[in-house]
Amino acid sequence: MMRRGVLLCAVAAALSGVAGTAQTLERHPDYPTVPVPITSVTFADTFWAPRLDTVRRVTIGAAFKQSEVTGRIKNFEIAAREATGEFCSRYAFDDSDVFKIIEGASYALAVKRDAALDGYLDALIAKIAKAQEPDGYLYTARTINPSKPMAMAGKERWSNLEHSHELYNLGHLYEAAVAHYQATGKRTLLDVATKSADLVARTFGPSALRYPPGHQEIEIGLVKLFRVTKNAKYLSLAKFFLDERGNPAGHKLYGEYSQDHKPVVDQDAAVGHSVRAAYMYSGMADVAALTNDARYVAALDRLWEDVVYRKLYLTGGIGATGAWEGFGPAYDLPNSAYAETCASIANALWNFRMFLLKQDARYIDVYERAVYNAMLSGISLAGDTFFYPNPLLSLGQHERSPWFACACCPSNLPRFMLSIPGHAYAVAGDTLFVNLFVQGTARMAMAGGTVSVEQQTRYPWDGNIRIRVALAKSGRFSMRLRVPGWAMDHPVPGDLYRDLMPARDTVSLKVNGLLVPIRLERGFAVIARQWTTGDTVDLHLPMPIRRVVAHPAVKADEGRVAVERGPLVYTAESVDNGGRVTNLLLADQSPLTAEWRPDVLNGIMAITGKASAVRVRNGATLSEPVPLTLIPYYGWAHRGKGEMAVWLARRPDLARPAPEPTLASAAKASSSEGGKGLQGLNEQYEPTDSNDHTAIYFHWWPKKGSTEWVQYEFPAETTVSETSVYWFDDTGQGECRVPQGWRVLYRRGDEWRPVETRDPYGLARDAYNTVRFTPVRTTALRLEVVLPADFSAGIQEWKVR
Ligand SMILES: [Zn+2]
Repeated sequence: MMRRGVLLCAVAAALSGVAGTAQTLERHPDYPTVPVPITSVTFADTFWAPRLDTVRRVTIGAAFKQSEVTGRIKNFEIAAREATGEFCSRYAFDDSDVFKIIEGASYALAVKRDAALDGYLDALIAKIAKAQEPDGYLYTARTINPSKPMAMAGKERWSNLEHSHELYNLGHLYEAAVAHYQATGKRTLLDVATKSADLVARTFGPSALRYPPGHQEIEIGLVKLFRVTKNAKYLSLAKFFLDERGNPAGHKLYGEYSQDHKPVVDQDAAVGHSVRAAYMYSGMADVAALTNDARYVAALDRLWEDVVYRKLYLTGGIGATGAWEGFGPAYDLPNSAYAETCASIANALWNFRMFLLKQDARYIDVYERAVYNAMLSGISLAGDTFFYPNPLLSLGQHERSPWFACACCPSNLPRFMLSIPGHAYAVAGDTLFVNLFVQGTARMAMAGGTVSVEQQTRYPWDGNIRIRVALAKSGRFSMRLRVPGWAMDHPVPGDLYRDLMPARDTVSLKVNGLLVPIRLERGFAVIARQWTTGDTVDLHLPMPIRRVVAHPAVKADEGRVAVERGPLVYTAESVDNGGRVTNLLLADQSPLTAEWRPDVLNGIMAITGKASAVRVRNGATLSEPVPLTLIPYYGWAHRGKGEMAVWLARRPDLARPAPEPTLASAAKASSSEGGKGLQGLNEQYEPTDSNDHTAIYFHWWPKKGSTEWVQYEFPAETTVSETSVYWFDDTGQGECRVPQGWRVLYRRGDEWRPVETRDPYGLARDAYNTVRFTPVRTTALRLEVVLPADFSAGIQEWKVR
């Protein structure tokens, strides 16, 4: 507490200096709701507290280490002329990863002293400051060698904003600078940020350059810079960048991918890259709150309904397709789901702002769904491996990775996760909002004085929440407790998902042990009364196991059911279910039971019951009862690769019979150099078409025009006489097409000989191309494939008889 008092004085003193020199906006509107900051909230539960601790102990250090190993930090050293060389990482936006990790590290410092981390940041910030050009320009991709900037950067400053990420990087710099300043009271990075923002403000404007950034983010950063410096030009600049979008007067429009197809106030459908979109919506909410712009709010309402009613995964993830890392058409939600970790973070950030704007619990419902499921799937329990996409169905091809060439997700997680305590409570005058249920304590300044609350709960495993209040002297205020939609048979706002059966148990509320009627306003149970230290509130949220079905327009989930309990979406993994899960049928009447498993995934409430497994045996399809175990979705992919499915078959014909072993499935696959997804050749998943991204597919991309091969090595010499190939072709999304030609070879001694065919080598899409040939006895068979001149090729499935 002492430390915090000292820190606030330092911040106030530093702020007055900035305000004295800046053009000051004395009075401006703002969000009607103020979050209780992370420095005033302590999580002391067994769900979040250990995860946040892991982020502080492991993830931040690992991310900085990766930034060193991959040249991201060296780029700043070279730009600062402390080292020599060329830009040495992959992308022009790599600077932003470093800024994001600094932001996360600052949140760690804000709540817990760490001299080593503090010192590391000081040294790193000194390099960043030296990498900044004298006029404030900061972008290592150009500064390192301005006469030969890296390709993405564009020839001149700001000349390739559609792709350069010059302004995107700066948005993350500004967020990091504000976080570092608020955590440490040091102005080092804040000075770099304001010097940069002043340059941007001189360069862009109604009578200067009028390009919006290709990737939104600077809008959020500028608003944060405005809040801390009170310099109104930063707010105006944020609004300017938003208003230039979709405005052809100032630039050639970038199109839907970057939400630059029409003015933001006219947008009514979520399109394009989903991280860009949700960062833009977040920036719009900020600017709407700070300028009282009703047109922005009306657009946000339309966009929110489009996302939540038609484009939201059950896990809270957004972005159906990897082709443009973004939204598909309404209700098009394949379970191969892109659902990028960053998009879940962006979705949560946007929904939290919508709550601040409207004080409606439905936004926290969406936030909670995204955070407990899609976002949390993005990081391992150990905190050192990550998912970029977070699919709802896996055939066993997915596993978390320590880093990515495009490392936006691993660097985004620490800053977001360490912000979560700051989303748990909020205050508006004499109203206290309790958004999230996490055991721990919080202190907040209310209209009548400081109030402390202590939450006791085992949430998300148990729906009983006790809140004890402490305040200096008895006072009147209103407490608003979120009653999640899932506790009232309404898993999401709108009708995209619904409970199959209503729950029998109901929500109840007690004040000092006495049941009180629930007065619900915008999703919050309101308790307005005179409070005294020691008063308690008990909220009971029923947590039955719920079966959820999707809107009939969601074809991927038709005839399927998902299981939820409390805020958690559950999933089936092969490791718990006899090796496969896509062959399981979960009947509506089959009872399910929740069971605490302290030994699994650091302690989970597992769900168990009975399902039917469909298998092929001696050519006949049969179904047999098997035990079923489900785990929380966030915990998948921690126990080896294997099948995973959130949506289980509810209709018998949708359970995919587990196939019998075949010649192909028993063979060892290999390929010419450079091919990926070998497992896809013989994983025995029947593709629905050549562009099926749920099936595992093999491909040679980015190779083009060359002659390549794949090969099956059999366990023993075998007679083969027929082969069938299902080509992969992602026309419209990628660069794979059916090949130019192919042939089959068999191994005889050290030689590869062509087979004598009885059929032509087919090149049909969306079907098997079968070739019969004179039987040969061999230990290996090879497909020789000639790639098209300008395209690559791939294979969905390869069968042999
Ligand atoms: Zn990402």
